[in-house]
Amino acid sequence: MWVRVLGSAAGGGYPQWNCDCPPCRAVRDGSRPCLARTQSSIAVSPDDRQWFLFNASPDLHAQIESFPALHPSSGTDRHREVPLRAVILTDAELDHTLGLLLLREAGGIELHATEAVHDTLYDGTSLLRTLYAYCPVIWHPVVTDRDVPLGSGLSYRAFDVPTTKRARFGAGKGNGQGNGQGNGQGRVVGYRLTDERSGRALVYLPCVQELTPAVRGRLDDCACLLVDGTCWDDDELIRLGLAGRTAREMGHLPIDGPGGSLAQLSPLPIERKIYLHLNNTNPVLLDDSPQRRTAELHGMEVAVDGLNLRI
Ligand SMILES: [Zn+2]
Ligand SMILES: [Zn+2]
Repeated sequence: MWVRVLGSAAGGGYPQWNCDCPPCRAVRDGSRPCLARTQSSIAVSPDDRQWFLFNASPDLHAQIESFPALHPSSGTDRHREVPLRAVILTDAELDHTLGLLLLREAGGIELHATEAVHDTLYDGTSLLRTLYAYCPVIWHPVVTDRDVPLGSGLSYRAFDVPTTKRARFGAGKGNGQGNGQGNGQGRVVGYRLTDERSGRALVYLPCVQELTPAVRGRLDDCACLLVDGTCWDDDELIRLGLAGRTAREMGHLPIDGPGGSLAQLSPLPIERKIYLHLNNTNPVLLDDSPQRRTAELHGMEVAVDGLNLRI
């Protein structure tokens, strides 16, 4: 399979428009080696012709333009034929879904999302209600532990990623409450993508609050892991005076510290383990930071926009 990291930053992007934290300042004034990044999304293809988008970020327009494989086909008289086949969502966060509205000129959108995510986007944020007014949306309910083909030779299997992050929208079933899903089931999922020809697998996990035994089990024998690297420290945003909540309280396992992702992932025999969904406050964004060096010494990579993988 072919994979393109379209955007590697968390919500707000890097730099974030209203932020002057050390990494944001450094990327603006060029005082440290670092690269700006757009909000997180990847594109995956079974054949380098049809592409599937995992999460639709508010930066989608620029991300599509930056990647010719997603451009409309040239040289035909069907001027609006595009290689994008479907959008697949991990959750209903705005930085993963606002880009859906940017696709409203489409003749139709195939959308894969859990019922909880779909309901949050329809009844909560009203984002889908708006999109439905512009173009037909064909919703494919994502059910965990079921293999779903994406074109020929590629399939995904969704798995539940438990979260206790407070739902911002409503008390209806869309946020996982009130329908017997009080543990947040379906609000966040990860995807394990398998190339049927080679048997090699990619796990896409941009939001993970805890690497529970069940979630860790999904990583077994995968060739590549794209994983939540939002914050280095659990109290990163608190120490910078930017928020009152820890990374975990915001649904993201920190990289460092007790029980952090670095200690848990570093020993795993996975060919490539890559952090993405990087918050602008995360010091790993600075190429010369000690935190970046620590991550790399532990066998972890830090994604940049435009990273191409062949799995
Ligand atoms: Zn996000
Ligand atoms: Zn910042």
